Parts: sequence; structure tokens; C-alpha cells
Amino acid sequence: MNKVSIFDTTLRDGMQGMGISYTLTDKLQIAHKLDGFKIDYIEGGFPLSNEKEAEFFSQIRQEKLAHAKVVAFGSTRKPGSKAHSDPHITALIEAETPAVVVVGKAWKEHVTQVLKTTLEENIAMIHDSIATLKKEGREVIFDLEHFFDGFKDDKDYAIEVLKAGTDAGADFLVLCDTNGGTLPVEVIGIYKQLPQKELAPLGGHFHNDTGNAVANTLIAVEYGAAHVQGTINGWGERCGNANLCVLIPNLALKMKRSINCFENLKHLTSLSRFVAEKANIIPDRRQPYVGEAAFTHKAGQHVDVLAKADYLMEHIDSALVGNARSIILSELAGKSTIVQKLSKYGTYDKKSDIVSDLINQLKTLEQEGFEYEAAEASFDLIIRKTLGKYTPLMELNNYHLESYKSGEAPSKTVGRLFLKIQVKEVMGAAVRIGPVETLDAALRDALVPLYPFIEGIKLTDYRVRVLNPEKASSAKVRVFITSSDGNLDWDTVGVSENIVEASWQALVDSYEYYYNNFVVKDE
Ligand SMILES: [Zn+2]
Repeated sequence: MNKVSIFDTTLRDGMQGMGISYTLTDKLQIAHKLDGFKIDYIEGGFPLSNEKEAEFFSQIRQEKLAHAKVVAFGSTRKPGSKAHSDPHITALIEAETPAVVVVGKAWKEHVTQVLKTTLEENIAMIHDSIATLKKEGREVIFDLEHFFDGFKDDKDYAIEVLKAGTDAGADFLVLCDTNGGTLPVEVIGIYKQLPQKELAPLGGHFHNDTGNAVANTLIAVEYGAAHVQGTINGWGERCGNANLCVLIPNLALKMKRSINCFENLKHLTSLSRFVAEKANIIPDRRQPYVGEAAFTHKAGQHVDVLAKADYLMEHIDSALVGNARSIILSELAGKSTIVQKLSKYGTYDKKSDIVSDLINQLKTLEQEGFEYEAAEASFDLIIRKTLGKYTPLMELNNYHLESYKSGEAPSKTVGRLFLKIQVKEVMGAAVRIGPVETLDAALRDALVPLYPFIEGIKLTDYRVRVLNPEKASSAKVRVFITSSDGNLDWDTVGVSENIVEASWQALVDSYEYYYNNFVVKDE
């Protein structure tokens, strides 16, 4: 009774999300990750839609999953045809998955206006399609499209559709809020009015157009659903689907429902980030449970309470979902945070001059617009400079950049810079499209002959934030750069009214951080 099965549609409904696409390899990797997490059902796509979708099913069949059932998605047969010869149904059979989703109409307006058939024929289509797939030995999940809108329009017809699905042998009847406009209070009323004892087990599939997809799904479970559908990170059509990264911990930790993936809850954060990486989308930092900010604290006092009794400041232990508590470096940071950051270089007392010196520097720099919570490498250089443990990489004499465009040809930037490295005068030059790219290429041109390690460093992310947009084109910008040597990532920051200068600061910090931490000590 308490058991809830989890159905993931990241690879089907999730693919309808704006800016989301996965290659076949991505889809296979995501499926294996979901299987490792013990998601019960993985909807792989619509085998009739294109070859990539069909190829997914033939590949995953060979690769075999340990726990999850792969599900193919398709609609009921067409009006006036026979299910066993209808291309929608045969594509579902040919996908050879243990389970299938059949989507059918539950809103009579859709039957008459979109399908352009009779209400009786729609019932026959549903019955025939499900019964045919059951005869083929498939587990059949019947998705009732627009169920909630249909119920509000004609309750009796919506219930007749549920009964047709039950009679035909469907394993789950999934009530879909396809337009996503249903409110929690309506979901309660509708689940309560259903003759649940006469029906196959119910499920819920909610879209987030009113911001209630997770809430509606939890209510569905509270009022009888034993099966929930959603996507990792909630990405899907329009405003998305119910977010499994929020739904799963709520079901397991708050509602105490039995779910098969419970033992893997501690891998939820990594699952969320894995899918984000495959989608090439920066995950929402403020996402409940798995977001970077979910257990992040930014005040000395909060930090002190946390040290005494963490349950007073956090709703769950972050480790349960594989997230981690973090304490932000900021002007509000207590001395204990600074002592912790300094611990790499030795033991310092809270009362030491070094600690107050660093707090003062942090305050001044934050007023200028610097932020170190996402740029710890730049802060590390400040600590090194304060402790006298900093070796400069070079000294800048000057840099010049010139952007030009002629006619319709793409614009270009020419850059050159003059540096002093130890006692040598060095020049670097480059031509690229954008100014920042050109500056980096010219800097590398100058540095690489003397510092070959620079070649192993790649800039993997570059973000710009306007700090005072009211100043329009003379506004200050903050640039964050993420760099990587293939194993380690680090972040640096620069601030200026000139985007090139802000980028220069972050670039130089990036190379100097690596130089000071991994090169100098080996010399
Ligand atoms: Zn949907």
C-alpha cells in the first residue's frame, strides 16, 4: 500500500524541454545511471518518431539493465484501425521493452476536436490497444492525457476512460496534467472522487505550469497513487515536469513511502549533476535538496549554531541526499571560516593579526564587487600574498587590443602584450575573434616557452555579471573563470568597469594559482 514506483521520463518528456538534447550515447549513459540508482522505469522515447529513438531501444536491449524496466512510449491505435496492425502499436511491440506506455485521450473535447472521432470509438481504441499489448506480455502503463481538464469538463466520461483501461488489463492508470494548470486543491478533490477500488492502481504525471508539479504529485500519492512520473532536475516541456530530485527525497524522507531507490538516496546529488552535464545546462544552484545552495550558509552566527546543533539550521542532513554543507566566504564570514581557509598553511588563532588582516581585505574587496564564494582560487592567492607565500608568475608592462570589422566579414581582434618574466622582456601576440579569447591566446603565447605547464590548463567556463546595470555601458562587471588541468578545477574572479581588464585579472589569477600551488614548490 505504501510502496510507490518511480517512473523517469527524462529521456522522453524531458527531451521536450527548451534547449535540451541528448545524443544516443548520452541517452544510454543516462539510462545506465538511472538504473544504477534503482529507478523503477526508464521511458526511453517514442520508437516510431525517428531512427535515433528506435536505435536507443535496440542498443539498450543488448546492454541489459540490472534493475530498471525500459519503457517505450506510444499512443493508442488510430480511429477505425485494428491495434495489431496499427503502426503505433507495432512500433511499441517491436521496441521489445518489458513495459510500454500507451497514451490515450481522457478529455472528450480532445476526442471530438483533435482525434475527430466519437467518444465510443476512443474507448474502443484504448481498450483494443491495451488488450493487444497485454496479450504480447507487456506491462502496460496507461497515460490518460489531459485527465484533470477532462474530469472538470465531464467527470463521467473521464471515469469511463479509467474503467476501459482497467478492463483492458492496464497495470497502472496514470492521470496526466498535460497542460500543467491544475492546482493542489483540485488534485485532492479529483483523486477523492475516483472509484479507486474498481480501478487498476493509479499514478500521477504532472507538469509545472503553476509551479505545483511536485506538490501535486505528493498529493496524488497521499490520495492513492502508487506510481509517480517525473524527470531529473524537473526539465521538460514548457515549465517542466515534476522534479524527481525533489519528489524522491520528499517521498522517502518526509512521507516515509517505500521506494526501491531509497538505498541510493545518497547518490541523488551526483545523479542530478550528471544529467545536467549531459544536457550541458548549468544546474539550478537553488534547487531543493541537490542544489549547491541547498545547504550553504552565509553568516557567522548561523555557522556557530550549526557547529552546536545542525538540526536547528537544516531540515535534513545534507549527506542523506549526497549534498554537502558549505560555508560561504563573505564579509559576513566569521573568523572561524577564515581560520578554516588558512588551515592549509598552518594553525592560526582566531585572534591573530593575519585573520583580522584577511577579514579587512575581504570587506574592502567585496565592496568593490569581488566575490570569493565561487572563486576560492583567487582568495587563496590573497592568503598567499598576506602570508608572504606568493611568487608572481610575471609582471605586466602593457597589453594592447584592437578589434576591427570590415564590411560583412566577421570581426577580429589583434592583441599583443609585453611582460617581464624574472629579468627577461617577453612579448606575446594573437589574432582571434573576441577580445578575451585574444588576450588569453597572447598571454599563453608569451608564457608557454618559459612555463610549459600553461599548455595543460584549459579554461572551461567564463561567466560575466553586470554589477550595477543602472550605469548602462559604463557598469562594472564581474568575471568568473573556471579552469581545469584535466583532474582539478579551480575558479577565479576579476572586477572592473572594463570587461577586458576584469577578464585579465581572472585569467592571471588562474595561471598564478596553479603556478603557486603546483609548480613553484617542485622547483
Ligand atoms: Zn508530460
